[in-house]
Amino acid sequence: MPPLLLRAGRAWGRLGLPGLCRALGHQRRRSSTFDVVVVGGGIVGLASARELILRHPSLTFSVLEKEKELACHQSGHNSGVIHSGIYYTPGSLKAKLCVQGAALCYEYCDRKGIPYKQCGKLIVAVEQEEIPRLKALYERGLLNNVRDLKLISAKEIQAKEPFCRGVMALDSPYTGIVNYRQVAQSYAEDFQEAGGAVLTDFEVTDMEMAKESPSESEDGMKYPVVVRNSKGEEIRCQHIVTCAGLYSDRLSEISGCSREPRIVPFRGDYLVLKPEKCYMVKGNIYPVPDPRFPFLGVHFTPRMDGSVWLGPNAVLAFKREGYKLYDFSARDFIDAVVYSGLWKLVFRNISYGMSEIYRACFLSAQVKQLQKFIPEVTISDILRGPSGVRAQALDQDGNLVDDFVFDGGTGDLGSRVLHVRNAPSPAATSSLAIAKMIADEVERRFGL
Ligand SMILES: Cc1cc2nc3c(=O)[nH]c(=O)nc-3n(C[C@H](O)[C@H](O)[C@H](O)COP(=O)(O)OP(=O)(O)OC[C@H]3O[C@@H](n4cnc5c(N)ncnc54)[C@H](O)[C@@H]3O)c2cc1C
Repeated sequence: MPPLLLRAGRAWGRLGLPGLCRALGHQRRRSSTFDVVVVGGGIVGLASARELILRHPSLTFSVLEKEKELACHQSGHNSGVIHSGIYYTPGSLKAKLCVQGAALCYEYCDRKGIPYKQCGKLIVAVEQEEIPRLKALYERGLLNNVRDLKLISAKEIQAKEPFCRGVMALDSPYTGIVNYRQVAQSYAEDFQEAGGAVLTDFEVTDMEMAKESPSESEDGMKYPVVVRNSKGEEIRCQHIVTCAGLYSDRLSEISGCSREPRIVPFRGDYLVLKPEKCYMVKGNIYPVPDPRFPFLGVHFTPRMDGSVWLGPNAVLAFKREGYKLYDFSARDFIDAVVYSGLWKLVFRNISYGMSEIYRACFLSAQVKQLQKFIPEVTISDILRGPSGVRAQALDQDGNLVDDFVFDGGTGDLGSRVLHVRNAPSPAATSSLAIAKMIADEVERRFGL
């Protein structure tokens, strides 16, 4: 087997000497065996690995990430909002974990000196007919124990956001913004400092039960699970947790577990306000959501670097990690279009889909939406911006899977694996709370 130490050493380059020595010492003892392996170096995988090693310092852990960098997919391509937990069905995992996660996120950033801004959020009704839905959202937020929520009048909207027009708004001053890639990097540093190994450039392509103990093994079959990557390299472990975002269904399939719910990728393109126009937006400004598609509807989001992003929209992506309009993967495309769940979703919501595509193509259509909130915005004030791709879990009946989903399998291998099947927004906000839940589940299932 090629020496994993080399690549691990590269990944540990960021550690500094004390961390590097600890990590190398640990790795020399067990160069390719771990008690628990976490697949996926996004914010959920890193938070979970961190929580596990902090709880079980005597066990060995590694994170396997296919890219050369950590957190470069959903965790590095998002709106950067610390959500307060208003939208989600009371009693759902999403609601509970978001409310807990936001508090944990602020506390963590304070402790680590990670900059954030608690700039608040207004959900703005621009038509009278939206008011009942806005009020229902307020009630929902109260049921979810969201802090400091209140309904405010048109005059109060203007006091908070002088350029924004609306008839009533839900004011959530607890909402904030942060750079989640920086947060994820910090989780990785905590993990490595505690002795965890991060192996980047390690794309997991296969998992199976070993037929014999590893060569030169003193522990026999203590590590019965073999995890292989695209280069044919392998490591051994006892248990696996997958947090593979846009590939969570494929990882599940590799381990012999169910492929459902499938992941269908939806690209979200942002626009950006020209720097000289950013003064028009102080905090987050969101529309009253359509309960059927809570993630649709353009919003104004200030960023930590002072810029303002507008959007995103949501259009079917032809590549799971394709951030450009013309990015295409035959496998991803075929996977999506042969899935009956996608067609059921499309036929049920054809007009929504078409208007999203129209808005993606024509900036003027997007601007029209934005002008409902800030009439002064014109097409000359905006530029095309970056994109993100959502891992949207979809069941066979074409229903969007809304809540977080965690799942394992049966049989020798399946019972040693825990899959995070669905971790959509606000999983970045909720990452520390999700990590606690995953660690509880790992302890329960695997008897750690
Ligand atoms: C456009 C957009 C806007 C969003 N806005 C917000 C927001 O404002 N606030 C919020 O809280 N949330 C937001 N979210 C949601 C949030 O970003 C995600 O829920 C969160 O980042 C999911 O983290 P993750 O670790 O599960 O997935 P990812 O960050 O996608 O990480 C998965 C990792 O697994 C790796 N991987 C996949 N397959 C393999 C393999 N075979 N072997 C090894 N590694 C593998 C990938 O390379 C990737 O690094 C947004 C998401 C999008 C797309």
